[in-house]
Amino acid sequence: MTAPVIICCAITGSLPSKADNPAVPVTIAEQVESTQEAWEAGASIAHCHVRDDEGKPSLDVDRYARLLEGLRTHCPGLVVQLSTGGRAGSGRARGAMIPLRPDMASLSVGSVNFPTRVYDNPPDLVDWLAAEMLAHGVRPEVECFDLSHLFQAAAMAQDGRLPPRPYVQVVMGVRNALPADEPAFDFMVATLARLLPGAPWCAAGIGRDQATLNAWAAGRGGHLRTGLEDNVRLDRHALAPSNAALVRRAAEIAARHGRRPATTAEARALLGLREAPGAP
Ligand code: MG
Repeated sequence: MTAPVIICCAITGSLPSKADNPAVPVTIAEQVESTQEAWEAGASIAHCHVRDDEGKPSLDVDRYARLLEGLRTHCPGLVVQLSTGGRAGSGRARGAMIPLRPDMASLSVGSVNFPTRVYDNPPDLVDWLAAEMLAHGVRPEVECFDLSHLFQAAAMAQDGRLPPRPYVQVVMGVRNALPADEPAFDFMVATLARLLPGAPWCAAGIGRDQATLNAWAAGRGGHLRTGLEDNVRLDRHALAPSNAALVRRAAEIAARHGRRPATTAEARALLGLREAPGAP
């Protein structure tokens, strides 16, 4: 059991609340504590959103800075990925945290329907976010909610708007977007390998599809995403008690496929990231 698997923990997101699961970390202090537990359980990337004092999605750069500082202090070496997603705001405000120079930021390269709205990613905004990431040395994680997004990622890598081998995430299980469909997943993975040979990739499943996508990715050489942002339950009967519990579940699924959680140093090497300042 030697092939390392990067486990990304999406700790908070924009949607789940304490009413959905009291373990959802909302304040910066809660986020740092929950991330530290997830890191100790085997996560090597934290995907982060911030909330305001009322628990609503926020794009406040000060909060992002405090979170980044807390994570660098308490989880040395952990790859920190900040969200530029569209639930907390729109337009260039979505990229206001990129100059903080986190290790990574998420980048959606096309629009898609979400459960109750359009996730709007117009070409000029996508290009601007990608350029900001390049300018600040922030590695993008390209979110693919659709096959067309894979082709867009490949076109952007080809003409230099993205790094040559970007980290790609296939997302399934969002209502009104791609469902968790195994033949479609295999086609996405095969198309990714054809368009962007050698690019590392991961997969995210929403809600009850989280464990399913963990297993599909683990079995095909991909990396895993878990966390309370995407799913607040361990199974049909129980809420997840923590982000760490979901990371442990992902690690167990990976083990069934002969894989073990990557260390943060291994994750950085796989992702082409610089060593973390002050990491052991
Ligand atoms: Mg997110």
